[in-house]
Amino acid sequence: MARIVVLGGAESGVGAAVLAKVKGFDVFLSDKGKIADSYISMLEKWEIPYEQGQHSEELILNADEIVKSPGIPGTAPMVRKAEEKGIHIISEIEFAARYDSAKKICITGSNGKTTTTSLIYYLLQQAGLNVGLGGNIGKSYALQVATEKFDYYVLEISSFQLDNCYDFRPDIAIITNITPDHLDRYDHKMENYARAKFRIARNLTPEDCFIFDSDDEITIRHLDEIIVRAKMLPFSQKKELNQGAYVKDEKIVVKYDDSECDIFLDELALGGIHNVYNSMAAALAAKAAGIDNKVIRNSLETFQPIEHRLEPVLSVKGVLYVNDSKATNVDAAWYALECQKKPVVWIVGGTDKGNDYSVLLPLVREKVKGIVCLGLDNRKIHQAFESVVGSGRMVDVKSADEAVKEASRMASDGDVVLLSPCCASFDLFTCYEDRGEKFKEAVRNL
Ligand code: ADP
Repeated sequence: MARIVVLGGAESGVGAAVLAKVKGFDVFLSDKGKIADSYISMLEKWEIPYEQGQHSEELILNADEIVKSPGIPGTAPMVRKAEEKGIHIISEIEFAARYDSAKKICITGSNGKTTTTSLIYYLLQQAGLNVGLGGNIGKSYALQVATEKFDYYVLEISSFQLDNCYDFRPDIAIITNITPDHLDRYDHKMENYARAKFRIARNLTPEDCFIFDSDDEITIRHLDEIIVRAKMLPFSQKKELNQGAYVKDEKIVVKYDDSECDIFLDELALGGIHNVYNSMAAALAAKAAGIDNKVIRNSLETFQPIEHRLEPVLSVKGVLYVNDSKATNVDAAWYALECQKKPVVWIVGGTDKGNDYSVLLPLVREKVKGIVCLGLDNRKIHQAFESVVGSGRMVDVKSADEAVKEASRMASDGDVVLLSPCCASFDLFTCYEDRGEKFKEAVRNL
């Protein structure tokens, strides 16, 4: 019996282990840290042997193949040792796809993955298709392949999950955009990070579709270097296209083969120009999947905003509080500020990922009346913005409660308080969801 060893015992690893068990492999799961109770119960339920708090070489290096969780870097010592022994290392996505014949719509990119993935899932559901949602969202893809039967999957895939994909082939692949993020995992080279994203497209055939942002310089530069053998479906807000999606006369126009669909911009459920991009990508995927224009239009108009992404929380004394805790990089915060129509009190800060804030200066100058710095070390934020907002309009806080109190003091009737932090959350919170929840709680307590 072939032996599969899974490294990492969270959503993706446990899903892969369950699938390996269902497919009759000799399975073992190893996690160097602590495995959460919910995952231990799953491993026990499926009778999968595991260890936590250590990696035992004698139980790992006898694998025929290793499934590595995306949280474990390729440089981890056990991964290196396995490679030296010539053991093939794959990702959970690669493993699961071997056992799945459903049509797959797969989304990667720096920003907008979750929004675009959720939009497409909603579109396919509204069209009455038997569709699963997975990857980086909700239940792992592998677990669903093991336990469910879908005709379609919509999968959000991070570049870490693509790193160990080799034969994986989506039917429709989407790169939302490529802007600097997570460069620490790619030797601080944008090249490596962009190439990792393009792995989503490398096995596409002429029957498949590749959907991409043709306004995005980095994507276009790579398209010049990499041969993608798929039907090319670009989207743009800057130019008209023969095939693809673009904006004209306040409408999104989607052209696919001989068919066309248009949707009024002011009827889109999600606001902001970033969501025009996301809506175009989703509409193109839906069109390529053969979905009716009426369903596409209706779905893009009725979709509900997702938590922590420009999520309106409450209006208190005429001030609207918006939770965009998921904006963990500069580009995401740029779009969040860009779509604000009222004066903004901006809550920003956290774990800096080597951010260059200069691109935000024009928007901050135009829209931001005060800044609340929510981080352990806010020096870079002061340096970047003090000259435009004035030091008297910047305060430092160390909790969501204080942040909301200070912001409410600075804001007046008709303003927006926007939490769009530009940074990861790990200095003061467990994750971006925790930051967003605490922010919402503080707003409700005002
Ligand atoms: P991801 O899953 O890639 O992190 P999300 O859809 O969760 O992306 O959105 C994260 C944040 O990024 C949002 O809060 C929003 O401010 C911003 N954003 C969403 N879509 C885009 C886009 N197409 N381009 C730039 N920024 C975006």
